[in-house]
Amino acid sequence: MPKRKRPLAPDPRRMAMATRAIHGNALTPHAGPVAPSLWQTSTYRFANSGDPIRYAEGDPDVYVYSRYHNPTVAEAESRLALMMGVDKALLVASGMAAISSALLSVVRSGDEIISTPALYGGTYRFFRDILPRLGLAVRYVSPSRLEKIPSMVSSRTRAVYLETPTNPTLAVVDIERLVTMVRRAERTVRRKIVVFADNTFATVLNQNPIHFGVDVLLESATKYLGGHSDLLAGVVAGPEALVKGAHTQMKYMGGCVDPFAAFLLLRSLKTFELRVQRQNENALHLARVLQGHQNVRRVLYPGLPSHPDHLIARKQMVDDGGRGFGGMVTIEVKGGVRAAARVCDALRVAVNAMSLGGTETLVSIPVYSSHIKMSARELARHGVRPGMIRISVGVEGIRDLARDFFRALDVLG
Ligand SMILES: *Cc1c(COP(=O)(O)O)cnc(C)c1O
Repeated sequence: MPKRKRPLAPDPRRMAMATRAIHGNALTPHAGPVAPSLWQTSTYRFANSGDPIRYAEGDPDVYVYSRYHNPTVAEAESRLALMMGVDKALLVASGMAAISSALLSVVRSGDEIISTPALYGGTYRFFRDILPRLGLAVRYVSPSRLEKIPSMVSSRTRAVYLETPTNPTLAVVDIERLVTMVRRAERTVRRKIVVFADNTFATVLNQNPIHFGVDVLLESATKYLGGHSDLLAGVVAGPEALVKGAHTQMKYMGGCVDPFAAFLLLRSLKTFELRVQRQNENALHLARVLQGHQNVRRVLYPGLPSHPDHLIARKQMVDDGGRGFGGMVTIEVKGGVRAAARVCDALRVAVNAMSLGGTETLVSIPVYSSHIKMSARELARHGVRPGMIRISVGVEGIRDLARDFFRALDVLG
């Protein structure tokens, strides 16, 4: 009898995003539940008193306390690392916990951070109100003046931070160019500078900053990864040493994720590719048709050829293997914030709520939400205008969505 060939062990890293998100590393036959197990526990029984000693010596199979680690969280982390193409991922309580744990693990008092200026509101306030109290300065570089980075970097620069596409104007930062400038500056100051990218808006399906040399990915899993507006979580992903540093920081700052949120996230990841693909399609369609409405002054969407950063978006979101331009669209209506409010109040399918990335379409007015209480100068610097409506496009029927927006825009006359 011919010897039966042993099949080659498949490498999950070479598989599609959906396959990685659904199966993780579990591609060998084994008995057990198909759905992931929820370890809803704060602490763990020791088989004997040697267990905590084994834990302290680094045995990864001994669990001691859920602020440090939890098997459900660990499963979500290993899938996220596989999806993002990195060594390690850390799942924490929220996007802000990811951002603060990761940044604070690399900087120390006296250091400087260089950042692009248009940021998620929480990040912007963290940089403006919290970091200076810890002796950390943030300097901003315009995405159109990245060549200034080498002259801005000093021996105190420890981190560079970027977010793209930005909230709410959907401007695109050229990641490859930014990283090139940072690495050039690094050689002059002879110091490693850690580059962080907040990838929440694009998600790893549409854009992977790691491919362009970014060190650490940050993402609010509350948004597209979670995708159903029912959980809060955040991800730090990158090389083992950096993620370990963020884990230590998280352990003592306390931003651990609840096991149930990790369980919900594991369920969400199974449909991540399907959802984001549909959101890409719906967003592109909606952006195109809304350009034609008489009460719309401007439509901002990186996938439209009229968008000022369309070519950069194409390079880093599509030509690099990404699937599209994301699910976020911003429109500016004629008539300022009062008109924007009237449109939002007239919508019946789209929901007036903060946040983004869920299956349901959400709208928000930036000057009433993410950019509330900012001075006129701050608003101008962020390119935010009172008549803007930010749309997080969901997975509803596209004709229902388009009709809903047309009907609501018609109330302006
Ligand atoms: C929502 C968001 C965050 C913060 O995430 P939370 O989960 O709310 O803490 C950070 N960055 C971006 C771009 C976001 O949209």
